Order: sequence, then C-alpha cells, then structure tokens
Amino acid sequence: MGPGSLQATVRSLYVHVPFCSHKCHYCDFYSLVDQQNRQDSFTQRLIRELHALAPFAAGAPLQTIFVGGGTPSLLRPDLWRQILSAVSRDFDLSDMGPGSGEFTVECNPESVTPELLDVLAGGGVNRVSMGAQSFRERHLKTLERKHNPENVARALELARGAGIRRHSVDLIFGIPGQTLDEWTADLDAAAALGTEHLSCYNLTYEPGTAMTARLKRGEFQPAEEDVEVDMYIRTVERLRRHGFDRYEISNYSKPGAESRHNLVYWRQGQWLAAGPSASAHVAGWRWKNRPRLDDYLTQDQAGLPEAIDIESPDSGRALHEWAWTGLRLREGIDADELFKRASSWSEGAPPRLQALASVLQSRGHLVCRGTRWQLSDAGMLLADGVAVDVMAAIDG
Ligand code: SF4
Repeated sequence: MGPGSLQATVRSLYVHVPFCSHKCHYCDFYSLVDQQNRQDSFTQRLIRELHALAPFAAGAPLQTIFVGGGTPSLLRPDLWRQILSAVSRDFDLSDMGPGSGEFTVECNPESVTPELLDVLAGGGVNRVSMGAQSFRERHLKTLERKHNPENVARALELARGAGIRRHSVDLIFGIPGQTLDEWTADLDAAAALGTEHLSCYNLTYEPGTAMTARLKRGEFQPAEEDVEVDMYIRTVERLRRHGFDRYEISNYSKPGAESRHNLVYWRQGQWLAAGPSASAHVAGWRWKNRPRLDDYLTQDQAGLPEAIDIESPDSGRALHEWAWTGLRLREGIDADELFKRASSWSEGAPPRLQALASVLQSRGHLVCRGTRWQLSDAGMLLADGVAVDVMAAIDG
C-alpha cells in the first residue's frame, strides 16, 4: 500500500533534498555529502515523483510547500528552475500569494547566492528558513557547522533583495560548553536580524550519530539538564521582550508569522512527501520514502518510490498523536473534541481526563479557556510528562 490507492485532496507538500556539503556529526536527517554528480539524476527523479503525486492535490490549490533536507540551497540554480517549473505545471499554486500560501525553502547561509534566490523567488518561493544554529564560531565548530556566523545576515539580506520577505532562523541551545549568557546573546543576535520567526531546539543526541558515539566515548561533557532548562526559560522570556511569542514548544513568531506548513504537521493535517526519507500523512495513512538515494534513483513505480514504515489508519494512534502535538501548541487542544474522540476509544476517558485537567490546573500547568486546554509556561516545561498523563487518562 502507499499513496497509489488513496483518494484525497491534500494541500501541503514536503520535498526532501538529500545533499549536504558535509555531514554534521549531531545530525540524523537523511543526507549525504554532495559530490555534485547526482544532482541531475535526483532532479529528474524528483520531477517524476512530483508528477505522480499531483493527482492527490488535484481540485484545490496547494496551501503550503516546504523544501527541506539536507541542504536544498546546494542544488544548482538551473536544477531549481526545472523543479519549480515542474511544481507550477503539476500543482495549483494560485494560493501562494502574500498572506495566504507559504512556500519555504531551507537554506544554508553559506550556499545561497543572488542567482539562486532570484530563481527561488521567480518560482514562487516566498519564505526561507536559514540554519544559523549559533552566532559563535566555537559552538559552530562543536556542531561541525561550517558557515561563518556573519553570513546569516548577508544571506537574509540577499533573500530580501530577491523579494522573499518571510524568514525563519534556526538556533540550537545546550551545545557543550555553551553558557547561558552566550545563548542569550545568540537570541539577541537572531532577533536583531529582523526575522519574524525563530526555531530554537535543544541539542539532542540521536542514536547512531557520530556525536552520540563521541559522547559515549566520554570525549566531551554534555550540557547539564538544569542549564538546558534555564536556557529554555530564558528563550521564552527574552524572545517575548523582542516581540516573539512561543506558538509551539520550540517555535516563536511575531504575530501572524507562524509557520503555516509546520502547523499542518502539528495539527495532524495531511501532506504529501517527495524525495528520499520524506514522510507523508494522507487520509490517516503514514508512510516514508525509503531513505536511500540509490534506491530512490532506481526504484520507480509509475513515478512513486518504494514506501516503508507504512501505518494504516488507526483512531487510537491518531488520537494520541493529535493530543501529543496539540498540547505543545499555544492554541492547545479543544476539550470537546478530546472528549468526543476519547469516549469512542474508551467510555470512561472523559471523566478521567476531566479529573486530570483539574489536577493540572491546580498545579498551574494547564489553563482552560472555554473549551480550550492550553499548557501554561510551567506546563510547557513538563509537556512530555503531561502528554503521558493525558495518554494514560485516555487509555484508562
Ligand atoms: S547541514 Fe543540516 S541536514 Fe546537513 S548534515 Fe548538517 S545538520 Fe544535517
């Protein structure tokens, strides 16, 4: 099974470009070091896949597209031109104007050029997400990120010059050796760039990465947990001073500048996916393209690559996912909908959930506004634990 047999009208698309100039040792995204020799074949294969996916978005314009990776800005501008013209040929992009649709491309500050940004803007891209991670060379070196911190401002200026007016900047905290003051300075530096969206993730040690292996060998000391908590609290406070509000546990925006594409994920909407390792969610089904470029280039079932990790619709799983990601959003979850979905799963769930809500409210972790349940600042710090309690109350 895969997308081939589904009937759906999907309005979001994720595209994965699997090339990077270097494999950063903390990263577990699927990417390989770009030798420039497979960009052409990848592009032609991607165009075939996009064409095969187009019927699932027929009948309504796409509202969000996100091209991530990897490092999409490493692709040559002439190949980008081909991809963008394929997207506009196969999909309805009439909603992609300012204030409605969102077409984001992830960029590395080092690899953007005026030519590339002109091509992106000309093809409908209206937002870039810039991987800054840190403004200190020492910490970039720890992460094995190769760019010069000063290039982030330059890259955003180039994007503005090309007419791309929406920007996001990614930062990482909890880097070994990073102090709270250094992190605060990073937040200030990011806010000074004039961006209206920031993603701030703490460094995680994913299984199988080179950095996790080095940690296990005792080559460095990870940040202490209480330092990471202080950094998280500082992030929320400092960014509020700069006019950003947290709308998701790790994402901050000026009013109205939330990432519309990522909200589709967090609200458990539907999206198509193209490129090796890309994951899709359509009509309750989830699947992932096999994360191997060689397979992607050679396996072609009427344009679609082999799908793995296929999960069929499951109301219990969908309820858990919806509650889990919804609680991490500022908007929270609707209690009426929670009760309705939970009672069809377990009859005793609504009273258990109501009792849990009362406890969480009394501890100051949950705020109930009408039927909306939203985690407080203190609750966000414990979001994973709260979500586990909610799951337990659903399951009984
Ligand atoms: S540039 Fe990004 S996607 Fe590529 S290896 Fe580094 S962290 Fe991973």
